[in-house]
Amino acid sequence: MNIILLGPPGAGKGTQARFLVDERDMIQLSTGDMLREAKDSGTDMGKVVAEVMAKGDLVTDEIVIGLIREKLQGDKKGGFIFDGFPRTLAQADALAELLSDCGETLDAVIEMQVDDAALVDRITARSTCSECGEVYNDNTKPIPADGVCTNCGKKAEFKRRSDDNADSLKQRLMEYYKKTSPLLGYYYAKGQLSAVDGLGEMDDVKAAIAGVLDA
Ligand code: AMP
Repeated sequence: MNIILLGPPGAGKGTQARFLVDERDMIQLSTGDMLREAKDSGTDMGKVVAEVMAKGDLVTDEIVIGLIREKLQGDKKGGFIFDGFPRTLAQADALAELLSDCGETLDAVIEMQVDDAALVDRITARSTCSECGEVYNDNTKPIPADGVCTNCGKKAEFKRRSDDNADSLKQRLMEYYKKTSPLLGYYYAKGQLSAVDGLGEMDDVKAAIAGVLDA
C-alpha cells in the first residue's frame, strides 16, 4: 500500500508517518529529511538547497523528483508513505509516472487538516530527537529533563529546525497555499482524497488514519 500524507508544515505528517513505519512496516519517504541530509553533507546540491530551505521556499521539482526516483528503486516493504511530497502539481504528475513505471499504485491520499494558528504554535515550540526523529513540544510534550529520548531510549540532542522560525514559517505556509493546496482538488478529482482532523490527540489522529487505510 502506497500513501501520501498531505498537509501544511506542522500538521503532524512526520509523527504519523513514524507510527505507520513501526506498525505497518512501511517506508517513510520524507523529502524534507532527504534535503536536510543533503544540506548537512555539504555537497553542491546541499549548498543550493540550504539557501532555498532557509527562506522557506520550495526546492526545484527536478531535485525532489530525482530524490524520490532513487528511493523507489529500493526495497518496498509494506509500501511507501510520501511525507512532504508531492508539493506541486508537477511533482504529483511525476509521482504517478514513477509509481506506474515500477508497477505500483497510489492507494490513498490523506489530508491532515489543522488550522493556521495551531500550526504556528506547534512549529515554534517543536524540537526533534537527533537519534530517532521523535518530535517534542515545549507545551504539550517537553524534552525529558534527563536528556534521554522517551521513544528510542538514547541520550540525544533535541534540535530545533533552523527553518522553524516565524519568517520562514510564514513563507512555508504561503508556498503551501499557493503551490501545494491545489493538490487537494487534484486528488479529490481522482477519487483518492480522504481527510482527517489533524488537531486531535495523536492517538485519535492515528486511529482516523487507520480507519482510512483499513476501509
Ligand atoms: P519539510 O520537512 O517537509 O517541512 O520540508 C522542509 C523544506 O524542504 C521545505 O520548506 C522546502 O524548502 C523543502 N522541501 C521538502 N519537500 C519538498 C518538496 N517536495 N518540494 C520542494 N521543496 C521541498
